[in-house]
Amino acid sequence: MKPLIGISCGTFRDHAWCPPSYGHRQTYVDAILRAGGAPLLIPPVTDEATLRVLYERLDGILLAGGGDIAPSTYGDAPHEKLGLVDSARDDSELPLARWAIAEAKPVLGICRGIQVINVALGGTLYQDIPSQVSDSLRHTLSYEREDWTYMAHDISIDPNSRFAQLMGVQAMTINSLHHQSLKELAPGLQAVAWAPDGIVEAVEGQGDSFVVGVQCHPEALQASADPRWQALFLAFVESCAAYRPNSALAASLTHP
Ligand code: MN
Repeated sequence: MKPLIGISCGTFRDHAWCPPSYGHRQTYVDAILRAGGAPLLIPPVTDEATLRVLYERLDGILLAGGGDIAPSTYGDAPHEKLGLVDSARDDSELPLARWAIAEAKPVLGICRGIQVINVALGGTLYQDIPSQVSDSLRHTLSYEREDWTYMAHDISIDPNSRFAQLMGVQAMTINSLHHQSLKELAPGLQAVAWAPDGIVEAVEGQGDSFVVGVQCHPEALQASADPRWQALFLAFVESCAAYRPNSALAASLTHP
């Protein structure tokens, strides 16, 4: 059985007169399908008991990209350059991340997702890199060019990290569509890649389970712009498949 991988949805508003839509970009679904997983879109659910029902069914969680996380979730006051926040999404994704990491269920965080992982574990964020980090690069360049595959800046990867082993390289050039980034790293996380200006571009967990966050958008690169990123999705899906037989849900289904 293919592992069931939840992709956390964003809230999209196309017309003011229409109710908002929950969903996510096709590239996330494509990346999971290509890696052999069964993707399932997870809407923001703020009732914890209901969220837990969804969580229990999943073999892994992909925390996808999106808008800014409310600074109240990491004890900060809103900065004037804070973008749109979606508190329902925060209230859904933060517990998902905490549960998964505590219970060794694989988690992959992309862009906003690396920030969700960090905040969920007690870290903080720069709310706006250009105004809070001096001499920073333009981390919104791929966004400004309206090109998800535009390679905006280099990253260097800690050669001793599992992430380096996984990717098989110690340096890459990546896309960049974020104005926020990790500030204080949460306990239990290790920074494993950095932009030339010092901004953290990837983290991994210090335990045995799969916890990886990247600040770039590999789901937009893996199909053709940089297929090396397929290794990340493959490793994630394989970890989800390995987690599955050990899950309490699988045990309860086998032995009712
Ligand atoms: Mn960047």
